Amino acid sequence: MNTFSIAIHGGAGTLVKGMMTPALEAKYKAALQLALDAGYKVLENNGTATEAVEKAVVVLEDSPLFNAGKGSVFTATESHEMDASIMDGKTLNAGAVSLITGIKNPVALARDVMEKSEHVFLAGAGAMQFAKELDYTIEDASYFYDAFRHKQWIEIKDTDSFQLDHAKKKDSKFGTVGAVACDKDGNIAAATSTGGMTNKKWGRVGDSPMIGAGNYANNKTCAISCTGSGEFFIRGVVAYDVACLMEHKEMSLEDASNEVINKRILEIKGDGGLIAVDAKGNIAMPFNTEGMYRASKSSTGQEEVSIYK
Ligand code: ASP
Repeated sequence: MNTFSIAIHGGAGTLVKGMMTPALEAKYKAALQLALDAGYKVLENNGTATEAVEKAVVVLEDSPLFNAGKGSVFTATESHEMDASIMDGKTLNAGAVSLITGIKNPVALARDVMEKSEHVFLAGAGAMQFAKELDYTIEDASYFYDAFRHKQWIEIKDTDSFQLDHAKKKDSKFGTVGAVACDKDGNIAAATSTGGMTNKKWGRVGDSPMIGAGNYANNKTCAISCTGSGEFFIRGVVAYDVACLMEHKEMSLEDASNEVINKRILEIKGDGGLIAVDAKGNIAMPFNTEGMYRASKSSTGQEEVSIYK
């Protein structure tokens, strides 16, 4: 049997330590633990990597603590536009959705795009039509509302700026979520889900739903889920770049992930991090910011739930 493992993240950024109370820190860690355990359980019970990453991301989407599903950030028009993607490293099948509203679990819709359509990426009104045809319940905006996110938006709504929900001075609520996993058969998968950036406009789409940028999986190399300023991660084609370094330069998962996060993406001033697994169950979780909400667990007994370096 292959070593099986899972890693999850809840966003990376300038998580100012002093702003975090012990009680709040415990809350975040408990939410990460819940998602980690849910995904790990799928693997333990012989589930696939794809099933495990979807399960872990659903748990994170359901928590208002993270910027995905419930608790997503507000756009410039005071609405929520969510993005998500999933990729199966065995088949290279992938599904993604962007600019969707009212869907409780965007990652589930991304998986349906992968499995129930001929396409990879559906956006906006078309993606919503697809969801309706599959009988998705459309939740009211109040389901996604979070007072803290709303306050973050009020502070910058009349400006041209848009921001990571977890960057800047005093934030204590963070992030895009993601999961990567390696199952007992040595198959790997990645999933990512986000509300994007506070006050975004013009149909702005980040890296999270873009295969190769914020999310990628290939059994030959690695499964990756990214978090950070999406514009840089798109330009750096970050997730695929890690896979390329492994495939063409024969770098290890750890070295390739570090090279991209602590060198290549920094060269274009990109801030953020990623989680990664390979088909042997190895895990890497580098970030170039002050912190990244992250957790990992492997059948070798290794387990971690951390926020700061
Ligand atoms: N990468 C996401 C985006 O740009 C944001 C995040 O990681 O929190 O939409």
